Amino acid sequence: MVRPLIAGNWKMNGLSGDSDTISQIARGLEGLDNVADCLICPPATLISKAADTASGTRLTVGAQDCHANVSGAHTGDVSAEMIADIGASHVIVGHSERRADHGESNEVIAAKAEAAFRAGLVPIICIGETLDEREAGQTIEVVSSQLAGSIPAGAFGKAFVVAYEPVWAIGTGKVASVDQVEEVHDKIREILGERFPGQADETPILYGGSMKPGNAAELLAASNVDGGLIGGASLKADDFLAIYGAC
Ligand code: PEP
Repeated sequence: MVRPLIAGNWKMNGLSGDSDTISQIARGLEGLDNVADCLICPPATLISKAADTASGTRLTVGAQDCHANVSGAHTGDVSAEMIADIGASHVIVGHSERRADHGESNEVIAAKAEAAFRAGLVPIICIGETLDEREAGQTIEVVSSQLAGSIPAGAFGKAFVVAYEPVWAIGTGKVASVDQVEEVHDKIREILGERFPGQADETPILYGGSMKPGNAAELLAASNVDGGLIGGASLKADDFLAIYGAC
């Protein structure tokens, strides 16, 4: 049985004053008895403060990206070890915005996921098709190939999360239908089962793409959906807690 996860991705949003939202989420979780895990991934500048705020609560804190190397001449980058050092438990890798903005390939993403394992972090490996790919009938092919290429060779026996995020649904208000979500999530579970015999049911598969309080219950009840990766709606404590409450 997979333990569900509701994860927030703040993207490049949030200043030090926004740590109040982290406190509100942490406090709000205390009043809920859902069994799901809850994670917020603020920008790197806020991870340390957020981890301090969340310490001793049910809320955990993650990062939105990491470099594959431990250290070295990589100006502006942050390693998985650095992220773990300041209290993060998870790291998102391969978000479609990084695949698009930074040209990250499946190979780069697999190396980042491997780095997360090395540092004791749980990688959240993101995959998802563009609108053109969906309209060309290539969704399953694209998602299968991203999944195969982005999960590192050494993943057997390690904890990781997969997030299916159709690119056309991220930040657009367009939500995948339950049928569309189930078709892809069922396929992901099947592929995980072939690659990780006996372990496929241990990997949470999250849906991400314009999840909001109003559509969360339906999406989270779909087959093989074990939680959500939430962008915009994770910036407001009430909305994020409402989504968590629907899990
Ligand atoms: C995301 O950034 O991963 C995401 C799903 O964003 P949104 O919820 O805003 O569509």
